[in-house]
Amino acid sequence: MKTVKDVSLSGKRVLVRVDFNVPLDEHGAIADTTRMVAALPTIRYLAQNGARIILVSHLGRPKGEKNPKYSLRSVAKVLETLLGQSILFCDDCLGEEVKRVTENLQDGEIALLENVRFYRGETDNDPAFARKLASCAEAYVNDAFGTAHRAHASTVGVTAHLSPCVAGFLIEKEITYLGDKISHPQRPLTVILGGAKVSDKISVIDALLEKADCMLIGGAMAYTFSAALGHAIGDSLVEMDKVDVALEAMAKAKRKNVQMLFPIDHVVSSHIDFPSRSVGDLKIVKEDEIPAGYSGVDIGPQTIELFGRQIVHSKTVLWNGPMGIFEIPSCNVGTFAIAKAIAGASLTSIVGGGDSIKAIHESGCAANISFMSTGGGASLEYLEGKVLPGIAALDA
Ligand code: AMP
Repeated sequence: MKTVKDVSLSGKRVLVRVDFNVPLDEHGAIADTTRMVAALPTIRYLAQNGARIILVSHLGRPKGEKNPKYSLRSVAKVLETLLGQSILFCDDCLGEEVKRVTENLQDGEIALLENVRFYRGETDNDPAFARKLASCAEAYVNDAFGTAHRAHASTVGVTAHLSPCVAGFLIEKEITYLGDKISHPQRPLTVILGGAKVSDKISVIDALLEKADCMLIGGAMAYTFSAALGHAIGDSLVEMDKVDVALEAMAKAKRKNVQMLFPIDHVVSSHIDFPSRSVGDLKIVKEDEIPAGYSGVDIGPQTIELFGRQIVHSKTVLWNGPMGIFEIPSCNVGTFAIAKAIAGASLTSIVGGGDSIKAIHESGCAANISFMSTGGGASLEYLEGKVLPGIAALDA
């Protein structure tokens, strides 16, 4: 995969696919600029090297219709502040205005096109739409790792019409950390998986059992493994139809000599109310003693210690998924403790998934994490070993 460093884009009109799919608050204002900040190194590099930059992104799910709620206009304003440079905003991503603005771009200037998902041709990867979208540029840079697992017009279709097609620094960094540093890790490599469902992470578990020295399982996922081991799990969230998958994973871990660790104690509650973010009285119980009428809501203190010891002895840690219902403050102890243990250890730490990254930020440890993936679904697919269409479409 070639990157912006391998080619000269000076004086060229470059279509740059970025991921400005930022979260919006209830008033429609940008709630978090992390994704925009992650794209700045590539934009700055291109500007400093004389490219004429045409940024394209999606925002939300407007489902092929123009909807002001999902306009990128406010993103353009924030981007101006972040870059300290003016941005030419186009009200559309196709058409006369785009043609006029992009033809008049000078070296180092930046235009931002309106939400590409205002057209259904984007997600359909419609060839005619892709040709029109590409017609404002000569070359292509993809730096939107978060959508690289989707074969859309702006991630794949346009590459048939533009040359060169290269990756930006964010994609390069994601691949370095999720690829090289996991496939050829400093050992021991410990993988920590949590979250709600085994079914979402079957392929990731399978792929990572090929690479890890140790796998720690927490969150509700752990109850499917507990059920497979015949432990009492009370009313905990469980996928009984995935018990076979859990047994297969445990058998594979044994074959591959991967140490697989599960919670040895749990925080349980007789009552969980998500809307009011409340739980009943919390109790701590041993691994196979969750009473009927109680659900596991977090890993217990002995598990925190057990997992913490394993983390400290690791040289590389990959973490994806919370250890409990961390959205409810009294159930976030395990997730935050894992965040702190990872951040406090001397190792390469790679964190993926919105919840784990949120926990890292909320526990104030972001500065001590080697890499936080912006990818979500794309990160999981990459870790599964899948070829991401948006990366495969770039020049080799
Ligand atoms: P995922 O998207 O699969 O990473 O799952 C994240 C969700 O898992 C979060 O919303 C957590 O609240 C939820 N979760 C983690 N542990 C538990 C648990 N013990 N019971 C129910 N939900 C959980």
